[in-house]
Amino acid sequence: MDRVRHLLDRLLAGTPPGESPLLHVEELPTRPGRPATWPAWAPPEVVAAFAARGVTAPWTHQVAAATAAWEGRSVIVSTGTASGKSLAYQLPALAALADDPRARVLYLSPTKALAGDQLGSLESLDLPFLRAATYDGDTPFEERDWVRAHANWVLTNPDMVHRGLLPQHGRWASFFRRLRFVVIDECHTYRGVFGSHVAQVLRRLRRVCAVYGARPVFVLASATAADAATSATRLTGVPVEAVTDDGSPHSAVTFALWEPPLTALKGEHDAPVRRAAGAEAGRLLADLVIEGARTLAFVRSRRGSEQTALSAQRHLTEAGATDLAERVAAYRAGYLAEERRALEASLASGRLLGVAATNALELGMDIAGLDAVILAGFPGRVASLWQQAGRAGRGLDPALVVFVARDDPLDTYLVHHPQALFGRPVEATVCDPENPYVLAPQLCAAAAELPIGRDEPAAFVASPGGSTEVVASVLERLTADRVLRARPQGWFWTSHDRPVIDIRGTGGGPVSVVDTATGALVGTVDRGAADGTVHAGAVYLHQGRAYVVDRLDLDEGVALVHDESPPWTTSARDVTDIAIVGAERSRRAGPLTVAVGTVDVTNQVVGYIRRRLATGELIDEQPLDLPPRQLRTTAVWYVVPQDELDAFGLPFDAVPGAAHAAEHAAIGLLPLFATCDRWDIGGVSTALHPDTGQPTVFVYDGHPGGAGFAERGHDALGEWLDATRAAIRSCECISGCPSCVQSPKCGNGNDPLDKAGAVTWLDLVLRHLRDAS
Ligand SMILES: [Zn+2]
Ligand SMILES: [Zn+2]
Repeated sequence: MDRVRHLLDRLLAGTPPGESPLLHVEELPTRPGRPATWPAWAPPEVVAAFAARGVTAPWTHQVAAATAAWEGRSVIVSTGTASGKSLAYQLPALAALADDPRARVLYLSPTKALAGDQLGSLESLDLPFLRAATYDGDTPFEERDWVRAHANWVLTNPDMVHRGLLPQHGRWASFFRRLRFVVIDECHTYRGVFGSHVAQVLRRLRRVCAVYGARPVFVLASATAADAATSATRLTGVPVEAVTDDGSPHSAVTFALWEPPLTALKGEHDAPVRRAAGAEAGRLLADLVIEGARTLAFVRSRRGSEQTALSAQRHLTEAGATDLAERVAAYRAGYLAEERRALEASLASGRLLGVAATNALELGMDIAGLDAVILAGFPGRVASLWQQAGRAGRGLDPALVVFVARDDPLDTYLVHHPQALFGRPVEATVCDPENPYVLAPQLCAAAAELPIGRDEPAAFVASPGGSTEVVASVLERLTADRVLRARPQGWFWTSHDRPVIDIRGTGGGPVSVVDTATGALVGTVDRGAADGTVHAGAVYLHQGRAYVVDRLDLDEGVALVHDESPPWTTSARDVTDIAIVGAERSRRAGPLTVAVGTVDVTNQVVGYIRRRLATGELIDEQPLDLPPRQLRTTAVWYVVPQDELDAFGLPFDAVPGAAHAAEHAAIGLLPLFATCDRWDIGGVSTALHPDTGQPTVFVYDGHPGGAGFAERGHDALGEWLDATRAAIRSCECISGCPSCVQSPKCGNGNDPLDKAGAVTWLDLVLRHLRDAS
């Protein structure tokens, strides 16, 4: 522990008294492992294979999950990084194959790299009965027949199940007939609209298996998350039990929460500007490297990771340590696999001491056992944060993790409220399998695979045993539109063509972002987001590289860009109206009304503003001429009567700024409770809403039909708004800044905003929510 203390002192050296950026230190003690005995059902040859790889005894959580699966109960194991989750599914699945090599296992992972690592891990067991193979877009056609016919452990991804396996289920008949286990690795990555599609793909998979007489057991592995059993049940459609009590050992970790100081620079509406997290991380990285600590810094963008590495090198050179400057590098997505492996090896050997990486690489890299990890900004999810922090700690040597806050309300909240990180997790992985925009194409795909029987709508509902009302209404609409044909036996797909569905998009077809000079496809943007992100003049970032948009052609679905990094950022100005279509659930909390339901959002991008990259300072505003857009989606809203506000010291004039500021901060905090980005959701606050006749705040899912985020916000409203108020109160600025109530995506240029009013507003709302509960 002394060594880690010494590192921390080094990082703090030179800070003026009273201005320490170190807000909290959490000592996570060494956790001794809790080994268990091998279960009696585990075949000796499988146990011997694990022992040969150094696993002499399993941990308690591995045995608990493996035994549930072996006994035929679907299970999710939700424990920390490097806790050995793979053994939990490998053991029962290998036992099944040892017993009957004709049995089959289907393994799904979100990335090809992870499937490749898994294949390597299985092959290293050297079990004669195991025939494992990957099956994805890269598998040569001549190998595909072999995999279908002979592999008894197939590693693939949900996209391939959707596109390759299910539409050709006849050719996979013997595979499906013998399918015993479906393994879903890193299942917390299936969230939002994509997660909703994956949920329906899994329902189609279960249906096809049932036709061939199989009822596979699902084994899911997830990072630590709230309510894992509920999320897994919703994802798979079958009851899933959870194993969350981690029995693996971990070295002691000193976890420091760090808030860079405010600078003298001025941003929008003269708000103070905090020192950038990436620059701060560069300085910390340099200090740790000087101390000889092997350190990995996670930065949000590729450009950011390069800047952090450069800034660390500059600090080292200035300190006269040129030899050390050469031992710092950036690790980024553009690298080839060999380059990445070389870099990983250099870090493991100690030749490299400091590496700055992007969050995008958190799943794909083989780096652990570090002395220190720096997190420059919240990576978007609590699960990711732990995944990254989990790379610190070599053997049982204590390690240091430093979380550096960015100027964002969620980061502010986390560094000021350590219990949100170190207490029970509150972030739940959410999706909405009953989103009609997901259901309609998925039901078409299902009907094209096998006609949907009259009793089958129940197979597609969000929770087992739930109401079939939504599914039935979507089937009815598809029939009325002559997409499906209703017959006495059920619903049929009668076209000769297969339905085309993009399970990673949200309909309407994405807009392609094309580099004019090379004709290369740089990326794609959801059509719904195109107006706000790739309008003419927008600076478009892709994997950390900057482009400037020359022209957006909505008819062609193309945005033409050129490679350029101007010293400013752009953000769209828009006008948003929201109309309530219907409340699904609504309740009173004293004088308040709280509801979740369907809304129509009309949004028009009317211009954009440019801000200086370095300081956030406003440069100018440019008009744009774009058509209004309609979005039917799900929202959570609450209504606060004006007479209550009057009595509480918020007169009508003060309400717009107070409600707007409260809405911004709430949007910033929702990712703590639901697995969304603040870009996945939108908000509207108004002092007099035409549908409610009162001051109302709405937060809506930014995807057609909703993605489960607003619903989760409704269910956790009290906790969510409580955290929102705490985030605003803990920011030391006077009248609002990006760390509390200003939003980088505000369509209104962050005007009006009333920081103090937002606290009063939330005080009133929370008092009534508490009284009503
Ligand atoms: Zn602030
Ligand atoms: Zn706003």
